[in-house]
Amino acid sequence: MTKKLFIKTFGCAMNTRDSDHIIAELKEKANYNLTQDAKEADLIILNTCSVREKPEKKLFSEIGSYAAIKKIDAKIGICGCTASALGEEIIKKAPSVDFVLGARNVSKISSIIHKEKAVEIEINHDESNYEFCNNIESNIRALINISIGCDKKCSYCIVPFTRGKEISIPTNLILKEAKARVENGAKEIILLGQNVNNYGTRFSIPHEKINFTKLLQEVSKIDGIERIKFVSPHPLHMDDEFIEEFASNKKISKYIHMPMQSGSNAVLKDMKRGYTREWFLNRVNKIKSLCPDVGIGTDIIVAFPSEKEEDFYDTLDMVKNIEFDTMYSFIYSPRKGTLAFNMKEIDSSIANMRLEILQNLHKQILNKKAKNEINKTHRVMIENVSDKGSEGRSDNGRLIKIDGTKLSIGNFYDVVITKNENGSLFGKTI
Ligand code: SF4
Repeated sequence: MTKKLFIKTFGCAMNTRDSDHIIAELKEKANYNLTQDAKEADLIILNTCSVREKPEKKLFSEIGSYAAIKKIDAKIGICGCTASALGEEIIKKAPSVDFVLGARNVSKISSIIHKEKAVEIEINHDESNYEFCNNIESNIRALINISIGCDKKCSYCIVPFTRGKEISIPTNLILKEAKARVENGAKEIILLGQNVNNYGTRFSIPHEKINFTKLLQEVSKIDGIERIKFVSPHPLHMDDEFIEEFASNKKISKYIHMPMQSGSNAVLKDMKRGYTREWFLNRVNKIKSLCPDVGIGTDIIVAFPSEKEEDFYDTLDMVKNIEFDTMYSFIYSPRKGTLAFNMKEIDSSIANMRLEILQNLHKQILNKKAKNEINKTHRVMIENVSDKGSEGRSDNGRLIKIDGTKLSIGNFYDVVITKNENGSLFGKTI
């Protein structure tokens, strides 16, 4: 008998990919179909994120709200990084939860649903060679894992404790999955990993020597792929070979996410990021010299415990210098188990003020850059169509809206920019 699955995904693209796997595995092996209505579900799964304190705190109220509306015999399962971080504690604190499955144990989903109060969060469970079911709904975009876990020890980050040691996924599995997704309608492939450009450093089976640059070359040989993206590269592993491939390979989207985190060498050292602001700037300038129109995104943490005022100004200085196209910025959030956890936090009023200053600066930069976009032409892949019109992204990652025209999702159009509204770009096809 077909059963109904409701799944809510929090956090990053890795979690979105894990949810895809969960949906496909349960469809194939347990006859579950997806529903958007939790009230009619036989199984409710929350795929959680614990990168910051708040989502973890919110988990129990989320569980409570689903427990209140679920069918009597429906089950609730908690997956993802908070499952790995809290494990048994979730079952103790929330009796309505039936199982807890850690971020590194997704391949066990079709067995754990049959167990009572099971907790499976083995941090180094190796599913890098596991071939997940691929019966995923057709989509112009395909998220594909190329590695699991992370070997870095950034002092603020909980990921190594929830996703375990870094292992690369065998190249043949990645290429096989990419081909299957293209046959299923994908035009854009997004390669996922905590440190994608560290690919090939370690496999758990004998494997030919390969690195990320070589993998990009192999993926771009697949017919039907129009655009390749990847999340997240680590600035430390941005060697010249990688940057030259990024610049010269026509299929690689000229948008790159470079998590800087701080612009101060003292803070970068305390964060154990492994690079300096000079190295970061050197890599950015190298990329810009080969791709003048490149889009660059970043992550920044303000008010890291050891961040002095002058350190914060160093961060502002880097943002002014680089003029990031996308910036995800957050106030430092202490995570239990991380090296920085016991460091004294900066007063919240100062932290909030710094975040505001940083975000205002970035708004000004975006506005200035958007003004320079007028009359420029971009090759845009349409991602969404509504009654208002269409929208999609350019090769360098800019979101562009085409009002009043319903274009075909997944198709590429040349679009000339006609106006900028508070940093949002509008254009028309030519
Ligand atoms: S590289 Fe650092 S910030 Fe990124 S997942 Fe690994 S430990 Fe976390």
